[in-house]
Amino acid sequence: MSDQRIRDYQAFCERHGDWAIATVETLARLESPTTDKAAVDRCGDQLASRLRDLGARVTPLPQERAGDHLLAEMGEGESQVLLLGHFDTVWPVGQLDRMPLARKGTQLFGPGVFDMKGGIAIALLAARAVREVGAPNGRVAMLWTSDEETGSATSEPAILAHAARSAAVFVLEPSGPGGAVKTSRKGCGQFVLTVTGVSAHAGIEPERGASAVHELARQVVSLESLRDPEAGVTINVGQLHGGTRTNVVAEEARAMIDVRIRTAADASRIERGLSAIVANDPRTTVTVTGGFRPPLERTAEVLRLYEMAKEVAAQLGRELPEFATGGGSDGNLTASRGIPTLDGLGAVGEGAHALHEQIDASAIPWRAAMLAGLMARVIDG
Ligand SMILES: [Zn+2]
Repeated sequence: MSDQRIRDYQAFCERHGDWAIATVETLARLESPTTDKAAVDRCGDQLASRLRDLGARVTPLPQERAGDHLLAEMGEGESQVLLLGHFDTVWPVGQLDRMPLARKGTQLFGPGVFDMKGGIAIALLAARAVREVGAPNGRVAMLWTSDEETGSATSEPAILAHAARSAAVFVLEPSGPGGAVKTSRKGCGQFVLTVTGVSAHAGIEPERGASAVHELARQVVSLESLRDPEAGVTINVGQLHGGTRTNVVAEEARAMIDVRIRTAADASRIERGLSAIVANDPRTTVTVTGGFRPPLERTAEVLRLYEMAKEVAAQLGRELPEFATGGGSDGNLTASRGIPTLDGLGAVGEGAHALHEQIDASAIPWRAAMLAGLMARVIDG
C-alpha cells in the first residue's frame, strides 16, 4: 500500500466525514431492537437505500420473524473481503426519548451509535473511498444482519457461507479502549440445568418427596469446580427458578448458566463436565441443555491481519492497540471456521448497551481510511 494511496483515502474520508456522521444519526433515529421485525426492517430499508446510492448490488435475505438481513456487493473479480456487522440493537423503540441523539464536542451520544451503527457508517465511508479513489481488483461484500444481539440464529448460515468465500473478514463491531481492535474474544455458552424431583406435602409426608430445589442448590455449588479463572473459564448461574410453594417439596427447578471460555479445548472440557453431571439424590434426575458460540482465538491468521492493520494505521499516524474481550460477536463464528478475521474495527467510543453510549465522531475518517487501506491490501494481495 503506497503512502500516496493511503493519503488519498484519508483525504477522501475527511472530506466526507460529515456524511458518515449523518449516516450514523439517520440509522440511530430508526430504532431497531432485534425482536421488533417491523422496526428493524425500517432501519434495514434505509441502510439498503444508502448502499444502493454507493453503487452496491443489494440483496435482502428475507426472514419470517427476524428482520431481513442485507447482502451488498461491490466490484468484480476473484478475491473478496467481507465486511460484517449488524444493525439490530439492544434498545427498545422509544429509547431515544431517554437517550436523545446529542453532539457534545466531538462525541455523539445515542442508542446504538457505538454498537454498532457507527461501525456501519465507517464501512460505508470506506467503501466509498475505495470506489472513488481507485477500486482494488476484487470484490467487497458486506453482510449486515438483524439478529446479532440475540445470538445470530437466523443469520449464521449466511455469515458462514459468505465468509467462506472471503480472503478475510473485517468485523465492524465497536473497538476496545483507545480504538483497539479485538484479536481475542471469549466463546460464550448458554446452558439450562433442569432438575426433576418428586413432589410431596412438606409437613405430612416429606419423606415421600425428593426436592428438585435442594438438588439444584447442590448442583449450583458444584458447578464452581468447573471454573478456571486463570485460564479465563468463568461460570455464572444468572437465574434460578424452582418450586411452587413453601409447603410443597419441589418437583422441578432450573438454573440458567452463562459460561465463558478462551479456547475450543476448554469448551469441550466444559461440555463433557456438564454432560457428566449426575444427581446427588437418586430419586431426582438432572438434565443439561445448551451449547457454545465458539471463541475467536488469537491465531496466527488473526495476528497477520492485526499486523497489517497496525501498518496501515501507522501510515495514518495512528497507533492501533489490540484488546481481548469476554464478549462475543459474529467474528467468533467466522474465526472458529478458520477464516482470517479481525474484529473491533468499528467506532471509537464507549458505553455499548449502556445509557452513556457514545462515539468519538472525529475518529470516523481515520477508522474508515484504515479500513479502506486494509481492504485494498487484502484484495490486491
Ligand atoms: Zn454489536
